Amino acid sequence: MEIVFSRLDDQIARFRLAGSTPAFANSFRRAMTGEVPTLAIEDVKIYDNTSALFDEMLAHRIGLIPIRTEEGCFVPRDACTCGGEGCPGCSVLFTMSVEGPGMVTSKDLISQDPRIGPASPDIPLVKIIKDQKVVLEARAVVSRGREHAKWQPTTACGYKNYPLITINDRCDACGQCVDECPRDILEIRGGRVAVVEGRLEFCSLCRLCERACLNTGIGEEAGITVRSDETRFLFVVEGDGSLPAKSIIRQALDYIRTQSEELSAQINEISGETRDE
Ligand code: SF4
Ligand code: SF4
Ligand SMILES: [Zn+2]
Repeated sequence: MEIVFSRLDDQIARFRLAGSTPAFANSFRRAMTGEVPTLAIEDVKIYDNTSALFDEMLAHRIGLIPIRTEEGCFVPRDACTCGGEGCPGCSVLFTMSVEGPGMVTSKDLISQDPRIGPASPDIPLVKIIKDQKVVLEARAVVSRGREHAKWQPTTACGYKNYPLITINDRCDACGQCVDECPRDILEIRGGRVAVVEGRLEFCSLCRLCERACLNTGIGEEAGITVRSDETRFLFVVEGDGSLPAKSIIRQALDYIRTQSEELSAQINEISGETRDE
């Protein structure tokens, strides 16, 4: 199995996964969205809220703010020694005290841990006018996206199969497929249609080119065929700011490895017991 990055920065990763299977690609995607622990606000104590939003709505909005999470500094709540009660090992306290007029934003959430804070300071929460107030305390805890989407570290995480485009001898370079392709993947070169250099990965596998070719009256078989490679996948992972993209990918792979090792150990144990009987 091989991973080749075409882009990797804090927010976005684009890479090709090769020598794999559809089952692994999907597990990898699900591990990135659902199994990487992050911080998100879970409990909100509202002391004063005279804004136009009622308390539950305000708490809901605060819960969806991505919180910058230091990898390895906290443990998920369900694995913490406090038993999920909430302690400095699995949670962080925030306070907020704002008086109108103005817009209450994520930067008004003041963290008690200087390493932790909202991933972006400009997320609007509620507009308040003169004499309106929002005063509250919030507790962020570590959990995973499979429990609630607010713990997902990604805003977009998906993949497509690698495209396989083949041109056969029936092609007479009429150019119909070139005109039909919405992504400028094809061109006429050397008396036949060909893939523009460097554009193959942008093919959406829509197969409009195949249909355009069949519509020229070429017969039952088109001069161009588009198929998906079942062993290569193109991934795009966009983080929400809670963790760098690299960390999301690494933690997801660690999770898959740990789960696989546990499963393998259990299977070995069961098969060992069966042999002993
Ligand atoms: S439409 Fe068919 S025949 Fe025409 S250029 Fe494309 S593949 Fe070749
Ligand atoms: S499958 Fe769609 S995007 Fe890909 S080459 Fe054909 S028309 Fe273009
Ligand atoms: Zn704890």
